[in-house]
Amino acid sequence: MEEDDDVRINVHPLTNNPSAVWSSIWHMQKVIPIHLESPSDAVTPNKVRFVCMSDTHALTHNLNFKVPYGDVLLHAGDFTSFGRDEEIKTFNRWLGTLPHKYKIVIAGNHEISFDPNCENIMQIFNPTTRSANSAESHLVTCLNIIKKPFARFTERHTATSNAAQYLTNCIYLEDSPVVVYGIKIYGSPWQPEFGKWAFNLPRGKPLLSKWNKIPDDTDILITHGPPLGHGDLVRNGDHVGCVELLSTVQQRVRPKYHVFGHIHEGYGVTSDEYTIFINASTCDINYIPKNYPMVFDMDLPPGV
Ligand code: 5GP
Ligand code: MN
Ligand code: MN
Ligand code: MN
Repeated sequence: MEEDDDVRINVHPLTNNPSAVWSSIWHMQKVIPIHLESPSDAVTPNKVRFVCMSDTHALTHNLNFKVPYGDVLLHAGDFTSFGRDEEIKTFNRWLGTLPHKYKIVIAGNHEISFDPNCENIMQIFNPTTRSANSAESHLVTCLNIIKKPFARFTERHTATSNAAQYLTNCIYLEDSPVVVYGIKIYGSPWQPEFGKWAFNLPRGKPLLSKWNKIPDDTDILITHGPPLGHGDLVRNGDHVGCVELLSTVQQRVRPKYHVFGHIHEGYGVTSDEYTIFINASTCDINYIPKNYPMVFDMDLPPGV
């Protein structure tokens, strides 16, 4: 099925209140739990196996599983805790030990050195700041859980050099596409602002302008954050996914798979009966890297 080239996505009037949007549309939406391939299933010669991970947060030395074999590894961002050079290099070395032929990686909000506009974060790095709102208390939680002294975070807080230069063992996507085995993949790091992290943007028009760059013919979309309604539920019962990302996926792009992370507690797989949505967060809410990678197979396109 091909889409109309002229589909234009509108900003929802309640875009800043995604839970309210979901309350008004959920009865028209399908959210069907999906069971993916088991990694012990044999890979057939006419299939490409994808292995999805996300949110490993500089903890790849602590995974309590062996990464399953596949042809392509996808990582949906938050591979560091604070975007430090050493964390990027360690992640890159770990990638180098994996057997997958292609490794495709995007950044998340924790990769602060990848976003040249992310400089204000140092203001809330001040350990004397007392959590005034949920985003600030989240940062304090991050600092405590990751248990690194404040002083060590000052070493790199802006992208003065190209942090992606350290990612030599993967294909790094940032609002850009790549084709592997004839399958069209597109990756984007942006998410709704929460604190002053990297690749944060206001909901509505600013985020939609990033989603408008996603090509119509994308087969696999990778974003750091979830769309509204799929893998986006946080503990207080709010849906925090991006409304315009859901609209873009359902009304225009219609990829076969949408892979993301960011909302660790949303780990799981659902379908709207067209797109399969994979929240591949490896870390749980306490930053323990215990969630098993998601595995799916796609048919090789004819002639590949
Ligand atoms: P991270 O800091 O790794 O990006 O996100 C970790 C956790 O922070 C998520 O699992 C979620 O609990 C919380 N979080 C991240 N972004 C948001 C947001 O936009 N809204 C809310 N309420 N929580 C968020
Ligand atoms: Mn994360
Ligand atoms: Mn399409
Ligand atoms: Mn994140």
